[in-house]
Amino acid sequence: MPDYRSIVILTGAGISAESGLATFRGPDGLWEGHHVEDVCTPQALARDPELVHRFYDERRAKLAQVEPNAAHRALARLEREWQGELLLVTQNVDDLHERGGCGQVLHMHGELLSALCASCDGRREWRDAMPPGSACPVCDARALRPDIVFFGEMPYQMDRIDAALRNCDLFVSIGTSGAVYPAAGFVQTARYVGADTLELNLDPSAGSTYFHESRMGPAGELVPIWVEEVLAD
Ligand code: NAD
Ligand code: ZN
Repeated sequence: MPDYRSIVILTGAGISAESGLATFRGPDGLWEGHHVEDVCTPQALARDPELVHRFYDERRAKLAQVEPNAAHRALARLEREWQGELLLVTQNVDDLHERGGCGQVLHMHGELLSALCASCDGRREWRDAMPPGSACPVCDARALRPDIVFFGEMPYQMDRIDAALRNCDLFVSIGTSGAVYPAAGFVQTARYVGADTLELNLDPSAGSTYFHESRMGPAGELVPIWVEEVLAD
């Protein structure tokens, strides 16, 4: 393996699948029985706040029943033991990377365990249910919403991600379908600057042909093997 200096890793719902969290678009095209546009857009939140809040309340409650898997733990080991520069970006809204031992995780699509105030833009850790109209602990406005980036909203920290991609010499995509932009375009940015690109996924993703190398299989098996290879060098 080449002597890498800077690695950017992007993870998606597939890395949490073996922990028991459903991926985004199951075989039926639904996320936990819902059309994505009914639970994952600002319009849905305005139209049916009860439904949207209940949906994320259920996702948040489910976190208490799942544990990180071997893939999450392997990435935490990489963070601890690898000497180079590493940025872990996740599209996931779960907390399994953190519970697997990762100290630095960039949640580009937000987090289930965070509340965002639509009035003052303040953020707070949030572990309970969040009925519509919950009061903001900072400004008291009844404007709390799940801190989730909906379709049509700008993912978090894109400048930082873009800078890291432009500076990396290896980009690794794990358990993501490559269907959701802008994350789906990261591989092209990395290739543009000459980085090696590797995909670890159960099936070939939409952007599979952009990667120099694709390994197909469950993340719980593939990620520990790849981390071992990086650390062995
Ligand atoms: P996706 O559901 O579109 O794609 C998941 C990918 O993972 C698929 O390509 C599938 O083949 C692969 N996969 C399934 N099981 C796997 C396994 N065991 N090992 C490796 N790969 C496996 O997910 P996405 O690309 O992350 O798009 C997701 C959007 O859905 C994100 O915006 C995210 O916020 C949201 N989401 C998050 C969670 C979570 O936080 N756990 C769960 C569902 C959806
Ligand atoms: Zn507020």
